[in-house]
Amino acid sequence: MKRVYNFSAGPSMLPESVLRRAADEMLDYHGSGQSVMEMSHRSKEYQGIIDSAESLLRQVMGIPDNYKVLFLQGGASSQFAMVPMNLMTKSGKADFVITGQWATKAFQEAARYGEAHAVASSKDKTFSYIPELDPASFTKDADYFHICLNNTIYGTRFTKLPETGDVPLVADISSCILSEPIDVSKFGLLYAGAQKNMAPAGLTVVILREDLIGHAMDITPTMFNYKTHADNGSMYNTPPCYNIYIAGLVLEWIRDTVGGLEEMKKINEKKAGLLYDFLDNSKMFRGTVVAKDRSLMNIPFVTGDDELDARFVKSASAAGFINLKGHRSVGGMRASIYNAMPLEGVEKLVEFMTNFEKENG
Ligand SMILES: *Cc1c(COP(=O)(O)O)cnc(C)c1O
Repeated sequence: MKRVYNFSAGPSMLPESVLRRAADEMLDYHGSGQSVMEMSHRSKEYQGIIDSAESLLRQVMGIPDNYKVLFLQGGASSQFAMVPMNLMTKSGKADFVITGQWATKAFQEAARYGEAHAVASSKDKTFSYIPELDPASFTKDADYFHICLNNTIYGTRFTKLPETGDVPLVADISSCILSEPIDVSKFGLLYAGAQKNMAPAGLTVVILREDLIGHAMDITPTMFNYKTHADNGSMYNTPPCYNIYIAGLVLEWIRDTVGGLEEMKKINEKKAGLLYDFLDNSKMFRGTVVAKDRSLMNIPFVTGDDELDARFVKSASAAGFINLKGHRSVGGMRASIYNAMPLEGVEKLVEFMTNFEKENG
């Protein structure tokens, strides 16, 4: 069996030990005589699985007791509507920092339900930096303030949070959840599609402060109301059972094998550091993001020559480094190095790039 190093932005790699364990438990989960895929979500066994996934997430992320954890479907993209429908209900206003395509989509979707303000944007330079924020420009009575904490497509991340005072900070953390510690108490609501750093596609995790539940607009579909899911332990309807089980295994891996999020962060900094150091010293390749705002998870880079970029992506792929082609809006390459990408994968990529540069320079 030959496994590749997969640099996809998502769905992406899962830890090999998790895949092996899932394989071992595939036909007979803990003596139940069935796969988790086949189990009734109302069974005692399955209740154990979802409860354990939630308590692991609480433990690993240090989620305070006055926050609910919801396991939903519909992807991060559904949250672009679900957040305003549930939160944009007092003044009907919300603020947004426009740092890329996902942030823009969150803004545009919210604008369908209320008054959405763009307080800053980095569109002028293809979202290659995080804009400076002036709290004086924030809407005082906004119902929430939205950011995309790590910008998957452009490779930027917030390293300091906006000072929003009493206005709940809401963040899309799809591509950085579990990559480093995060102070949940600084946020009103966090959401993430699981397919980047947590589980297979199909699970969406929402972590929200309890006081933000129960104020949804009347038009809100039952399935889009956080209260529906909070009141029913994410089991109002059938949850994405198997994905929640895998998320639990990934969380166990982070806690027991990696040693928690502080350790995870050190490994991620080491991996990203290796690649950024190479890019900063290369004569052929360069990163596209200003140094201070560089993501630990998604690293876009270019040669400046489309033909050379294409040749690089092709030969990298042939050598077992797949999905390095950049997003169409940035061009060039992008290496997504989520938690499950081993250090060795980045070391070997850098070695490959060094040789490519020698041979093609
Ligand atoms: C991938 C991604 C999304 C979209 O997620 P879906 O689950 O496909 O809806 C939204 N925001 C960010 C930051 C992402 O990386």
